[in-house]
Amino acid sequence: MSNTAGTHPRTIDVAIIGGGFAGIGAAIRLKQRGIHDFVILERGTAIGGTWRDNTYPGAACDIPSRLYSYSFAPNPEWSHTYSGSDEILGYIQTMSAEFGLAPHFRFGHNVTGIVFDEGAGRWDVGIEGDTENVRARTVVLASGPLANAGFPNIPGIDDYAGHKIHSARWDHDYDFTGKKVAVIGTGASAVQIVPELVERAASVKVFQRTPGWVLPRVNRRTSPVTKELFRRVPAAERLSRQAWFYGHESVALGVVWKSPLTRVVELVGRAQLRRQVKDPWLRRQLTPEFRAGCKRLLMTDDYYPALQRDNCKLVTWPIVRLAERGIRTAEGVEHQADCIVFATGFEVSKAGTPIPIVGRDGRVLAQEWSRGAYAYKSVAVSGYPNLFLTFGPNSGPGHNSALVYMEAQIDYLVGAIDTVLREDLHMLDVRQERQDRHNAAIQRRLTATTWNSGCRSWYLTEDGFNATMYPGFATQYVNQLRTLELDDYEVVARRADHEADAIPIA
Ligand SMILES: Cc1cc2nc3c(=O)[nH]c(=O)nc-3n(C[C@H](O)[C@H](O)[C@H](O)COP(=O)(O)OP(=O)(O)OC[C@H]3O[C@@H](n4cnc5c(N)ncnc54)[C@H](O)[C@@H]3O)c2cc1C
Repeated sequence: MSNTAGTHPRTIDVAIIGGGFAGIGAAIRLKQRGIHDFVILERGTAIGGTWRDNTYPGAACDIPSRLYSYSFAPNPEWSHTYSGSDEILGYIQTMSAEFGLAPHFRFGHNVTGIVFDEGAGRWDVGIEGDTENVRARTVVLASGPLANAGFPNIPGIDDYAGHKIHSARWDHDYDFTGKKVAVIGTGASAVQIVPELVERAASVKVFQRTPGWVLPRVNRRTSPVTKELFRRVPAAERLSRQAWFYGHESVALGVVWKSPLTRVVELVGRAQLRRQVKDPWLRRQLTPEFRAGCKRLLMTDDYYPALQRDNCKLVTWPIVRLAERGIRTAEGVEHQADCIVFATGFEVSKAGTPIPIVGRDGRVLAQEWSRGAYAYKSVAVSGYPNLFLTFGPNSGPGHNSALVYMEAQIDYLVGAIDTVLREDLHMLDVRQERQDRHNAAIQRRLTATTWNSGCRSWYLTEDGFNATMYPGFATQYVNQLRTLELDDYEVVARRADHEADAIPIA
């Protein structure tokens, strides 16, 4: 953490860490509550988070835009059912402008850690470099679950002398024309990239470790009539959003738990494979060997056809190492490539914390989470008062829009922050026993889910602990966050005459 001893910045009401969907949503809801004394600390130079960073060809959401957007900022203009990354980024930028967030942004502010000053009832937020630290009564940690690009742990990765591109840091200056390209990974980003690359490159080899379940993604252009209807009758758009919401909720029955519907999801996946892939050997190579839902479902109509293009080849031999000119696989072949695209996902913090966090009595959250993260309703952690998380432990959706979950978190935490400020509280600290009770229930419910059914995925820690997913319907997740149960918190009031004196009131 940077040290600016001697300087004493004013204590602001709220510091939001991260300027992606979550940080911006939190900022808007704070303003709507009449809370204006906040900053958004963003390490990058622009807003947008995921959608600023993921600009690879074909990047798009795989939840319909009508649902992958905030209900408090409806957009009748979505061009397609599933919009591309540039359109989603445009939506975020428009939202930010409409709600006047620009003065609150502090770009180039990389937060290096936060420490709770128990005497003063505030967080000291460290910023990288010479930038003055920030002091805030409350903090919203919205640094994103998928914000740090992850490279695989393959031997020789530094020996490779060709061009390397990570899907989340696309190099738009690189010309793929006439190039031999290798793609490592076959997850959600890869299935969007490969259909674009086969159009541009001389050859594309796709290196697959585990084939995923691929389901049809019927992407339709929004007709001018529909747009006009949604512009004139906002209730019609709300209805459309609700329809998408409940459609996805019903999918939970087959995706979150094993049920007869899981079989239906798998039948749809198998039918798509049979319809699109005629070669029996390729079909076999692409057939998943785990239960549908255990890993993220892949929504695409273009991936299988792209793999069968003359200039594309699927490689299923395990990668042994990278060499100077390409990729060596277990059967002893070196696949030469001018460029390797790493569609290998992100460094996800399932254990430890994204930044150092020091709470009451010098408690270090990374130590407490070293075997896996846990929180109260995914938004608060006992011993770390006045700190609220978005996309916290066990808030991941397997079947519905992340933004539905995020909106519920935001409304909850804005209510909590409002309480701290309005009641002039020194601390709002969730009680340990309430947090433990919540987590015991979450872990018990997780045992019945597909994610904990034995397959390996980024949802689990090395020990198989699931700190990532919420084991239920989005409706249940949203409902449990509807009210701030003050009984679940230790509530400590501030004394007006001396900041350091605090009186417990609950
Ligand atoms: C390619 C891709 C497609 C996706 N598609 C979908 C989809 O279709 N449906 C769905 O439900 N979900 C999807 N997701 C999940 C997606 O991450 C979330 O839906 C959402 O964008 C996350 O928003 P966020 O604000 O939490 O995080 P981010 O968008 O990652 O924003 C976090 C911000 O915090 C900043 N930051 C991080 N650390 C620091 C620090 N220490 N100091 C200062 N700033 C910091 C980052 O620079 C970033 O700007 C997708 C994710 C990816 C990567």
